[in-house]
Amino acid sequence: MRQNALIIGAGQAGGYAAVSLRDAGFTGGITLIGEETERPYERPPLSKEALAGPGEPAAQYFHAEAKYSDRAIGLRLGLRVEGIDAAAGAVWAGGERLDYDMLLLATGGRARRLSLPGGERAHVMRTLADARALRPLLLPGARVVCVGAGVIGLEVAASARKLGCAVTVLETAPQAMARSLTPEMSAWLEALHRTNGVDIRFGVTVHEITATHVVCDDTALPADVVVAGVGMVRNTELAEAAGVACDGGILVDAHGRSSVETIFAAGDVAAAFNARYGRVLRLETWRHAMSHGICVGRNMAGDAAVYDDVPWFWTDQHGENLQLAGLLDDAVTTIRRGVPASFCLFHLDAGGRVVAATGVNATREVRAAQEMIRAARPVDAAALENPAGNLQKLVVELRRA
Ligand SMILES: Cc1cc2nc3c(=O)[nH]c(=O)nc-3n(C[C@H](O)[C@H](O)[C@H](O)COP(=O)(O)OP(=O)(O)OC[C@H]3O[C@@H](n4cnc5c(N)ncnc54)[C@H](O)[C@@H]3O)c2cc1C
Repeated sequence: MRQNALIIGAGQAGGYAAVSLRDAGFTGGITLIGEETERPYERPPLSKEALAGPGEPAAQYFHAEAKYSDRAIGLRLGLRVEGIDAAAGAVWAGGERLDYDMLLLATGGRARRLSLPGGERAHVMRTLADARALRPLLLPGARVVCVGAGVIGLEVAASARKLGCAVTVLETAPQAMARSLTPEMSAWLEALHRTNGVDIRFGVTVHEITATHVVCDDTALPADVVVAGVGMVRNTELAEAAGVACDGGILVDAHGRSSVETIFAAGDVAAAFNARYGRVLRLETWRHAMSHGICVGRNMAGDAAVYDDVPWFWTDQHGENLQLAGLLDDAVTTIRRGVPASFCLFHLDAGGRVVAATGVNATREVRAAQEMIRAARPVDAAALENPAGNLQKLVVELRRA
């Protein structure tokens, strides 16, 4: 009997999963259902070049339309799935019942809203519609207040500065991008923003947003535009209501399968077991959405691919490119390589293995670091530090060891 695969969420993970499911040989029906009206598109430009550029932000699609039609992948856009009946193998969307044999939940996340008086006045940045709502307000001289010094708040701040706005960033924590950077790199980022004219303040709690001001502990800042960059909320509600196990995300094994045999999850919404680390990771990054989507799509087609990707993400702020690879949890020492304009911090564990890297304008170095993380062998620290040392040679030696 012809099998039917439904994918809920036409974002990056859902789009890549649909294509990889077909390319891995699945011959049944594939339907990709998305609440947004666009086929899967890139979110990273929304807070960067699409926001800082002239005119209305445009969608940059992952795939041409033909990539779906050539593979007989049905796109159902502008359609929200309201419920799942896991026992019956069906979902409800817009009054319609759609049956499935396999279901992929790639529902991603939504921008977290500020839960304080006037919080609804703050713009958020998750979708093309969000970028299109914000862009016309970023006029030269506009007073923009970004709440949160995470990656989205800081990228919006940098884009707003580029457009000539007067920008303030308010953060409760004592450092920028506190969840993912070492204090040294947070300080570097803070300095970058200050140099570029952003008024960035830490240890500040916002209490209220009025029509004209952002009210903090002991001051009220005049604001024409307020942007909340306070993280995202995973869209797990459908899964939870269907009895699928969740723990800060939909729990899936190394193959992307959830606690319910016929239901898989991929991308931002997943709390995914990563075989390299032997534990569940909750990632919210571009490469994870793509590689996890591809891996899970293959497995839905009957493959047994194991997910073990090395985490990696980048951000662009004020013309500088910052990249992070691996996990900092076990890092005990840091080796710095490069010059102030282009450098990489290699983070080593107690066994002398590279476990993470943070690079500024250092794509090649961070790429090499990922190979070193995969090799999981002690590295020659002196050679790594030596700017004249050949990184590729080091990688080859590690692979051979
Ligand atoms: C502004 C911005 C900038 C970013 N920049 C970077 C960056 O520089 N580097 C980096 O590594 N990562 C970046 N990211 C993160 C990266 O874009 C995400 O990790 C990625 O988009 C996640 O893809 P996803 O498919 O898992 O989820 P999503 O992109 O959230 O897609 C999920 C889709 O599911 C749909 N959906 C949800 N519920 C339903 C339902 N019930 N019915 C139908 N459809 C539903 C949603 O509408 C959405 O379209 C950025 C993200 C944002 C928002």
